[in-house]
Amino acid sequence: MKTLVLPANLQSTAEKAANIIKIGELVAIPTETVYGLGADGLNPEAVAKIFVAKGRPQDNPLILHVAEAKDIEKFCHSIPAAAYALAEAFWPGPLTMVLPARDTVPKCTTAGLPTVAVRCPDNTVTRQIIRLAGVPIAAPSANLSGKPSTTTADHVLHDHDGKIEAVVDGGPCKIGVESTIVDLTEDRPRLLRPGGITPEQLLEVLGDLVVDKAVTAQIDKDAVVKAPGMKYKHYAPQAEVLIVSGSREKAAAYIRNHFAPGDRVLCFEEELPLYGGCSPLAYGKESDVQTLSAGLFAALRQLDDPNIGTVYARCPVGGGVAYAVQNRLKKAAAFRIIDGEAEV
Ligand code: AMP
Ligand code: MG
Repeated sequence: MKTLVLPANLQSTAEKAANIIKIGELVAIPTETVYGLGADGLNPEAVAKIFVAKGRPQDNPLILHVAEAKDIEKFCHSIPAAAYALAEAFWPGPLTMVLPARDTVPKCTTAGLPTVAVRCPDNTVTRQIIRLAGVPIAAPSANLSGKPSTTTADHVLHDHDGKIEAVVDGGPCKIGVESTIVDLTEDRPRLLRPGGITPEQLLEVLGDLVVDKAVTAQIDKDAVVKAPGMKYKHYAPQAEVLIVSGSREKAAAYIRNHFAPGDRVLCFEEELPLYGGCSPLAYGKESDVQTLSAGLFAALRQLDDPNIGTVYARCPVGGGVAYAVQNRLKKAAAFRIIDGEAEV
C-alpha cells in the first residue's frame, strides 16, 4: 500500500480523508496535541486495524474525537453538568473527558469498559474530516505502541509508511503532548493524565480534582487501573533514560562525572554550554515550557537509537504545562530519577 500524504491546506484533503474513514480504513490526523491514528470509531473492524497497526494491547481503550461538544450526547449518557462546563471552557482543545458510554460505542473502542473517552480537537481540518465522515473518529496517538508519540507527519510515516492509507500533514503539533484526561464518572473528578489543560485550569472550573496515582508513579502491569494505558511502558526510546534533578550546575557536574562514550544528554537550550563534549540535545527552553512540551517527543525519537547508552535528561519543575512534561519524561525514564544535588 502507498501511504498518501494529504496536505492540510489543500481543499480536497478533508473529503479524501473522510472517504477513507467511511470505507473503514486508517488515516493519521493532525491535532493540537499529537498526530492520531484515526478510524471510524463506530466500526469495530476499522477500530481493530488501529490496534494491529500500533501493536497496541487490546485492553487499552481509544479516544473518540467529535466535531462539536453536543455530539457527546450520541455516545455518552448520564453526562454531569461538570462535563458541559469543561467543554464550554476548554473545547475545542486538549482535554479528554471520560463519561459513561452508550451502547452505540463498540466494545473494542472502549476496550470493554462501560465508559468512553471523548474529545473535541482544536484543529480545523480534523474537525472537518469528522463532520464529512459523519462518524466520530477513534484515535490514539499514531506512534507504534510504547514508542514516543508522533508530533509531525514524518514521525507518522516513520512508524506506518505503507501500512495506512493516508496521513494528513498539518505541520508540527503546537502542544506536543497528548491531551489531559479527566474522569467524570466517579463522585470526584479524577485527573488520569496531565496535558495542555493544566490541573490549575481544571480546578478553576471543577472546584475539586483528585490526581490518580498513575500520574506520579509506575503502575504494576497486573494492577487494575482507571486508565488502562497508564500501566504500559510509554514514550521510551531504546536507550535507558535517567532523569537528573537539581540545580543546573549540580546536575551538570553529576552528568559530566558519569558520562561515558555513547551516552547522550537531553537538556534545556539554556544548558547547552554546560555539556560541551557530551553530545547534548536540547528539546526547548526552560524559560518557555511550551517549547519543552512541543519539542519533547521529537527529541525522544531522535534518541531512539540502539547505539546510544544512557540518556541523562533534565526535567522542568513546577505546575502548569511543566506538570505534563514531567509526567511524559518520568514515564520515558520508567521513573528513574537521580538527585544531582546528592553527589559530588
Ligand atoms: P493515547 O491517545 O494513545 O494516549 O491513548 C488514549 C488514552 O486514553 C489511553 O491512555 C487510555 O487509557 C485513555 N482512555 C481511553 N478511554 C478511556 C476510558 N474509558 N477510561 C479511562 N481512560 C481511557
Ligand atoms: Mg499514546
